[in-house]
Amino acid sequence: MMLFEEGFEKIIGYAHPLGTERVDLLHAITRTLADDVCSDISMPPFNKSAMDGYACRIVDIKNLLQVIEEIPAGTVPAKKIGVNQCARIMTGAMVPEGADMVVMKEYIEKIGPDHILCTPENSNTNICYLGEDVKAGEQVLKKGDFITPAHVAILASVGGVDPLVYNKPTVAILSTGDELMEPDEIPGISKIRNSNSFQLLAQTQQLGVTPEYLGIVPDDEVLLKNMLEMALEKFQVILISGGVSVGDFDFVPKILKQLDVNIHVHGMEVKPGKHLLFGERANHFVFGLPGNPVSSFVQFEVLVKPFLMAMMGNSATKSCLYLPLEEDYVRKKGDQLFFVPVTITGQGTVLPVEYHGSAHIHAYTRAQGIMEIPKGVFILKKGEIACVRPL
Ligand code: AMP
Ligand code: MG
Repeated sequence: MMLFEEGFEKIIGYAHPLGTERVDLLHAITRTLADDVCSDISMPPFNKSAMDGYACRIVDIKNLLQVIEEIPAGTVPAKKIGVNQCARIMTGAMVPEGADMVVMKEYIEKIGPDHILCTPENSNTNICYLGEDVKAGEQVLKKGDFITPAHVAILASVGGVDPLVYNKPTVAILSTGDELMEPDEIPGISKIRNSNSFQLLAQTQQLGVTPEYLGIVPDDEVLLKNMLEMALEKFQVILISGGVSVGDFDFVPKILKQLDVNIHVHGMEVKPGKHLLFGERANHFVFGLPGNPVSSFVQFEVLVKPFLMAMMGNSATKSCLYLPLEEDYVRKKGDQLFFVPVTITGQGTVLPVEYHGSAHIHAYTRAQGIMEIPKGVFILKKGEIACVRPL
């Protein structure tokens, strides 16, 4: 059986960006830039006061200063600051010519209606200088950047109102299993609620993708084949929950083969999610996720998510925090890579949460990360460094 790392490399090797489009700024969040972005202006665009106070010359700071004008934000100063002069200035306003300092209003004493004295506490100039953050023409964002709220702020400040971004894949999600009922139903005897579809829909939505839900398909070869035939035509990525392991009613691998899907991965030395399947037909991709809720949850996080991110123009490197264990971690079998739900303590150490196995998805409501226990490792001692993928 394949190592998880081999499976990962193989699967990511099939991910490719899907072309580009322009979106307006309101829809740029969670997209990935397909082009570098340069600033059309310097930031700040003028010498700007960082404080409410008085703009003056440093050399005059110990003298009695005459207040010659008031400069609100958004206005242009009318006068130049001369010897022993100052201007009342607001935060964000343009520093007048001649001034090289803004004295905070908290550090002045008013002497009559038009004069002030500065108290000795002043040290900063309290000026944000023209271009100190960004120079006009400078590259501020780069192709491949995943757009977060901070990126949106930069796009807005450089006038990047319609950034070029990579397209999102069309994604369909379905669950198979005769035991499944939808969440709004009360399960009869021997039935369970379909949680995986909604979990996968939510995980996909978190990436900024809008998936389509195709419902529950029974363990019926004909119905499953019809559904997958349609899905393979219509969607670029299909996530199937259940029916991929070795049971008599696990029809997914057989049907995918009948539909000419090339199966590149089926089974890896990993827990949970050993029977994960990945296949491709003419640039349409299928993930068969084992039906156990934790298997589908974890395999989405560690495999499907990097794949979808790569399809949207991001690098597919895994993001791990390397953190020390709060206490010893021991397991009985070490024959496969093991993913464990953990919390991260206030001290930055890792603590596994109570976890009963692949059906115990509830454990992940309390987890902040997924810890990796490498194949062959039985014990991690307190203080040893573990790789934790943040959730
Ligand atoms: P399977 O991968 O189809 O063999 O299913 C493995 C286990 O996961 C069984 O206990 C199923 O009842 C459970 N399971 C399968 N599909 C779902 C689903 N959509 N939601 C919740 N549990 C599921
Ligand atoms: Mg099943």
